[in-house]
Amino acid sequence: MCLRAAEVGLTLDDLDAVFVTHEHGDHVQGLGTLTRKHKVPAYMTAGTFENLPKNVGELPKVELIEAGDSVEIRGLKVSSFSVTHDAADPVSYVAEFAGRKLGIAGDLGKPSTLVRNRLAGAHALVLESNYCPQMLRKSSYPPRVLQRISGRHGHMSNADMCSLLSNLMHDALQQVVLVHISQENNTPELARSMAARVLHGHEADLHIASQDHATPLFEIGA
Ligand SMILES: [Zn+2]
Ligand SMILES: [Zn+2]
Repeated sequence: MCLRAAEVGLTLDDLDAVFVTHEHGDHVQGLGTLTRKHKVPAYMTAGTFENLPKNVGELPKVELIEAGDSVEIRGLKVSSFSVTHDAADPVSYVAEFAGRKLGIAGDLGKPSTLVRNRLAGAHALVLESNYCPQMLRKSSYPPRVLQRISGRHGHMSNADMCSLLSNLMHDALQQVVLVHISQENNTPELARSMAARVLHGHEADLHIASQDHATPLFEIGA
């Protein structure tokens, strides 16, 4: 995580808090190390906290929230909302500062009305674009796993992302970052081209987050 920050010229020394969406390993792997090193609190729901993998270890400070709660840290307002995912009590977050809004939707099966409402008006969007249904169907995954991924409590497909993005497009949208792209059942090029088709003619920048590199820093302007 420090290496990723350094790639874009940042350190994590100014980190104030960590917000956890749910207890799956790909989201909490570095949580213990990160919060212990920087002595910062971790915000999460009780369901997430109770189901954290053992290897996360002791956390210096845990702040329990309920889905729907908002927390303010140095002027940044972070609001949580429930999502459907196969975890104990998963949430996603919206962050607001000085009238600018960043909305995050990832690790959720289908974007609900609540998700659409909470992300509405965001100036920057971080959206999961996990899989291509055709590629998933042809994959070597067992049927149980296929169902898990594509079910209501699984992940967003490229088409789910496109549907959500087309709902959330507005004149002041500046940045779109696609995340959680499956290495087996999707390609960055495919996700990008589908999002670009939705954004067609819109000025928002489109980024594809990779597991191997930091996403370029972007500012959400006035
Ligand atoms: Zn997950
Ligand atoms: Zn995940």
